[in-house]
Amino acid sequence: MTLSQAMNKDPWERRYHEALEQLERDQGQWSRIEAALRRLGARLVLAATGRHARLDAVLVEIGARLRDSLGETEIGAFLQQLSHVIAHMDDATQPNPAAATASAQPDLTPVTQLFGRLLDRLSLLPELAARAARLRENFEHSDSLAGLAAHAEALAELVNQQRALLQEDRLHVERVLQQVNRQIDDFAQHLVGETERALGAAQDRGRLNAEMHAEMQALDAQVGDARELDTLQHQVRSRLRTIGAHLREFREREETRERSWSERSQRQRERIKELETQTHELMQSLRREQENAATDALTGLANRMSYDLRLEDLCRRHKRFAQPASLLLLDIDHFKDINDSHGHAAGDRVLRVIASHLRQSLRETDFIARYGGEEFAVLLEGSAGASALEVAEKIRVCIEHLGFHMQQRPVPVTLCVGVADLRTGDTPESLFARADAALYGAKSAGRNRCVLAAP
Ligand code: GH3
Ligand code: MG
Ligand code: MG
Repeated sequence: MTLSQAMNKDPWERRYHEALEQLERDQGQWSRIEAALRRLGARLVLAATGRHARLDAVLVEIGARLRDSLGETEIGAFLQQLSHVIAHMDDATQPNPAAATASAQPDLTPVTQLFGRLLDRLSLLPELAARAARLRENFEHSDSLAGLAAHAEALAELVNQQRALLQEDRLHVERVLQQVNRQIDDFAQHLVGETERALGAAQDRGRLNAEMHAEMQALDAQVGDARELDTLQHQVRSRLRTIGAHLREFREREETRERSWSERSQRQRERIKELETQTHELMQSLRREQENAATDALTGLANRMSYDLRLEDLCRRHKRFAQPASLLLLDIDHFKDINDSHGHAAGDRVLRVIASHLRQSLRETDFIARYGGEEFAVLLEGSAGASALEVAEKIRVCIEHLGFHMQQRPVPVTLCVGVADLRTGDTPESLFARADAALYGAKSAGRNRCVLAAP
């Protein structure tokens, strides 16, 4: 195997490529979110059309351009134009504000819900979680199209920032890989140097041998030809001096080689140590990145992306082994009221407590994810039907009796669970649809209950 083949098989490159694939998957997700934002924009345009002639003109143009790929500057320009027209409209309607709100205030609930769902779908990096939470609050308290437009802009910025952060991570991995490659190059050069050194030593030894051999032959011939002892002595001494000089020269060359070799080895050992430290750090940072990408920042549970992957995997395995399995969809009852009455931070606390309760009470093999805002998904492997419903019921009863208190007053917190068994031929979507329908059934039947989807 050549050195370059050995380097190709280096686990570093493999890990680097895996990291790149992960980042590309994330990029793909961002593109889908961008497409969803475009659709959202288009719907907003539709919702707002027909309120004012000047606004309509701008909206028609935006609607048309939303289908193309708009650049950041163009979006900025449109938003400015839009804000200007909206501000102007507000002025124009000022003399009779009561009439204006009564006649022109559209119902924004579907749009804010759509925003909420979009936010839920973002697998955000932890550093953006606080910003996303603020944005969510802003949406929920938005009571005008102008406000929504501004928040939509903030959402787009959030998406852009996530993109930029992912790009930064990618550059970081690339930088470390370059360093690692440089170290490997050094190491390869060292090996080449070593080979040359060994070759040089072998050549030197060969030369010394040949020189010695020649001197001995000459000596032998001179001894044979010698007629007088004096001459013979003189010739032998001179030959011995020459042999001694050759030996000295050889030893000096050996010593120089030895010195440079041990210096180079010492340098190399230090570099290898450095490389090991970097390797370790990169491994840890890659592991952290992977964990972050798969984890929900608020609760520490698996996030929506992990849920999607896990469910796909479960459906695939079910095709081959047909083991019983089920999906539980949990949705907190009237959670919006908890936020509205006690604040978003209190709502967040409820989510964290419920998450930790789920973690403690379910088996390690059960998969728990925060699926959306106040929705959790549990995948049970090995349980279905009545036994899955039993698990759901146990969770429901425990949550009902957790005894939440806010401002020293008891606050009832309950949830509904929709349960569906995994059937042969199910896709993640078909299984989810059944569990979701069962959840809807539990809500309509009065909440704080579990419903098992019909087999
Ligand atoms: P239902 O019983 O029908 O489920 O009513 P609900 O109020 O729970 O449902 P709805 O879908 O109307 O409201 C869900 C609320 O969850 C809206 C949103 O403010 C809140 N929410 C979503 N994500 C978060 C979050 O991360 N933190 C907090 N505090 N609230 C969140
Ligand atoms: Mg919900
Ligand atoms: Mg709810």
